[in-house]
Amino acid sequence: MSILEIKNLNVEYTTKSTVLGKEKTVRAVNDLSLDVKKGEIIAIAGESGCGKSTLANAIARLTPVKSGEIIFHGINILDLNSKQLKIYRQSLQMVFQNPYSSLNPKMKIGDILKEPLIINNDLCIYSEDYRALHEFSKGEIEEIIRQVLETVGLDKSAMDLYPHEFSGGQRQRIAIARALILKPEFIIADEPVSALDVSIQAQIINLLVQLKNNYNLTIMFISHDMNVIRHIADRIAIMYLGQIVEIGNTDNIFKNPKHPYTKALLEAVPRFDKKQDTILTGDIPSPTNLPDGCKFHTRCVNCMDRCTKEEPELKIFHGGHAAACFLNEL
Ligand code: SF4
Repeated sequence: MSILEIKNLNVEYTTKSTVLGKEKTVRAVNDLSLDVKKGEIIAIAGESGCGKSTLANAIARLTPVKSGEIIFHGINILDLNSKQLKIYRQSLQMVFQNPYSSLNPKMKIGDILKEPLIINNDLCIYSEDYRALHEFSKGEIEEIIRQVLETVGLDKSAMDLYPHEFSGGQRQRIAIARALILKPEFIIADEPVSALDVSIQAQIINLLVQLKNNYNLTIMFISHDMNVIRHIADRIAIMYLGQIVEIGNTDNIFKNPKHPYTKALLEAVPRFDKKQDTILTGDIPSPTNLPDGCKFHTRCVNCMDRCTKEEPELKIFHGGHAAACFLNEL
C-alpha cells in the first residue's frame, strides 16, 4: 500500500550569475514520479547536486513546487491549508545531515525535545481521550521525553545536558528523538550518517532499522553512499539531474543494475575483492543547462547517437525493477 505518491513533480528556482548578474533557472527536479510503500525504507541515491535534497524539501513543503502532485494518504499536500499542513508536518518529520548544527547549542536536550510538543500543543497524539498536549502535566511531558530518549538508546539524564556535551552519534540520536516525539508515520533522513565516523554510522543505521520495525515507520533515506544504502534500504531509487533513472529492490539494484549510471555508482564503492574500474568520469552537468536527449549521455560510456537526441523512459522489468536506458531495448 502506498503512503506517498509523487506524480510528475517539477521543482525550479532561480539563481543569479555572480559574473553578469543574470538570472538562471535551476531545474532541480524534473517530471519525477515515485510511489513510497507504507513501512518501507526507500533510499534516494545519487551524487551531490542530483536533486535528492530538493525532492525531500518539496515533500516536506519546505520548498515551492512548480507543478505536479505529492499525495500523502490520498490527499495532495500541495493543496493543504495552514491547519492541515500542521497535521501533515506532525506525520512527516525530517532528520538532517549535521547533528552539530541541527540542535540549538543554547538549549538543554529536555527543552529541545519539549519544543515540538509546545508548538503542536493542540494535537492529541499521546492520549486516547483526545486530551491536547497542553493539558498534560509537567510530569507527563517529562515521561514522554524520557521514553523517547530510551527509544533512541539514551538515558533520561540527557535531559539536563546541552548538545556540546554529546558525541556526534549521540547528537544524531537526539535529532532522531526530536523527530520521533510527535509520533510521525514517515521520516525523511537527509544524509543522516555522512557527518559521522564510519564506526558510528552502523549504530545509527541499526537504530533506524529497529525504529522502522518496531513502529512500522516509513523512512526515506537520502544518501550518496551506496555502501551505507545497501545495509538499510528495502528499495533504491537512483537520481540523476532531477530524474529517477533506475528503481528497484536493493538486491536487484546491486546484483543486476540496468542503468550505466547505477553501474558507475556501484563501481565507485570501495571493495577489497575487486579492482575498481572508474567508469564515472566528468562532472554532473549544470541543472541550469540540462543536456538534450538522455541526461546522462555526456558521461555515459555506452552513449549511442540516439541518446543525444531522444530521452529514454523508465521501462519496467519484473518485480517493480525499472530503468531509463535505451540499452535495455536492444
Ligand atoms: Fe547511456 Fe544512452 Fe543509456 Fe543514456 S540511454 S544511459 S546515454 S546508453
